[in-house]
Amino acid sequence: MTDDPRAARLMQDLARLADIGVDPAGGWTRRAFSPADVEAHDWFCGRAREAGLEVRFDAFGNVVARREGRAGPGAPALVMGSHLDTVPNGGPLDGALGVLAGLEVARRLIETDAIGMRAIEVVAFRDEEGRFGSLPGSRAMSGRLSAEEVARLKSADGVALAAAMAAAGFDPARVGEAARPPGAIAAYLELHIEQGPVLEAAGRPVGIVTAIAGQTRWRFDFQGAPDHAGTTPMGMRRDAFAAAARFADRFRDMILAEGGAHTRGTIGFLKLTPNAGNVVPGRVQLGLEIRDVEAGRPQALGDRAVALAEAIAPQFGVSVAAARLNAAPTVAMDAGLAALLTGAARDCGCEPLSLPSGAGHDAGIIAAVAPAAMLFAPSIGGRSHCPEEATDHRDVAVALAVLERAMRRLCAVP
Ligand SMILES: [Zn+2]
Repeated sequence: MTDDPRAARLMQDLARLADIGVDPAGGWTRRAFSPADVEAHDWFCGRAREAGLEVRFDAFGNVVARREGRAGPGAPALVMGSHLDTVPNGGPLDGALGVLAGLEVARRLIETDAIGMRAIEVVAFRDEEGRFGSLPGSRAMSGRLSAEEVARLKSADGVALAAAMAAAGFDPARVGEAARPPGAIAAYLELHIEQGPVLEAAGRPVGIVTAIAGQTRWRFDFQGAPDHAGTTPMGMRRDAFAAAARFADRFRDMILAEGGAHTRGTIGFLKLTPNAGNVVPGRVQLGLEIRDVEAGRPQALGDRAVALAEAIAPQFGVSVAAARLNAAPTVAMDAGLAALLTGAARDCGCEPLSLPSGAGHDAGIIAAVAPAAMLFAPSIGGRSHCPEEATDHRDVAVALAVLERAMRRLCAVP
């Protein structure tokens, strides 16, 4: 299948994009609105125009590359999309595969005069990787990013989103104009790498996403006393780290015992104060997140974690305060579009695996305003958000063929 000249065209585009944002420290770094990100979007605009698409930036900076259908301007669009930005030192396929496969499918539809009544679009969402908050590009397009929020958002390194947008030529006060009118998106399909090991382990070349996992994020603050490590007897300490460590261990046990097959509980952030070898830790800030596709479960397990921490902390003479930082509900993918993708995969000779997505995606945001579905390609070794991120070229060709098949069926609907 790698001999298919049109799959080769996608591989060439991926290789071109991979020339942009190469990081001397490893992998690719295209943070939203950075020079590399701007270069990638400008390059993509050029490729889309060469393919015969009409290209515009919306008010947030998302690229909308469109070809009108037979019903003429203003008709609803069949949209393929993903993102061109990366995490720091990320890989070459996260987001890029979905945008460039969408472009290749658009080319094929144009070349074979297969576009039906409705328009087709390829969308590159800005800042999927959340340099400035959670999925602001797709939130802007779905009418859920206000100018007030834009004015507040800052990157971790202190850059204001409004300043970054202005530097790239966008007026942050006009972000509301990025919202698409109701019904403008007839269907949204996003091809993405799985970013996990499930498809590879199952030996399946294609995954159809059932739902995008909901999540809650929490910050726990264990407060003890920073005493001398040499003079304070063990029984007289208020060791915040001892309490936090006991909690971390019990938290994992609780997730394993009370969660389901798709539950994920992670403590990924820890800050010790004063963080010195000869001082009893007086304070520990700990960040955790819980994800699950079952509605309500992340919140319920978060409440259990709070109860657990409150039971453990006093055993160490420590107090604990828990704050929920954010919560995102589980988003089901459109059943009709998921069935369409399943049929398209079978037409291409492969039996897809249905699976939830533990990672968030623009499809989960667009699903609030349009039918949306996702197709996963296997990630070699499950690796992602790292320079080693890769997908077998044959699997890329299969995913491209499935996306094309699904789009042809949608285009054929009168
Ligand atoms: Zn992505």
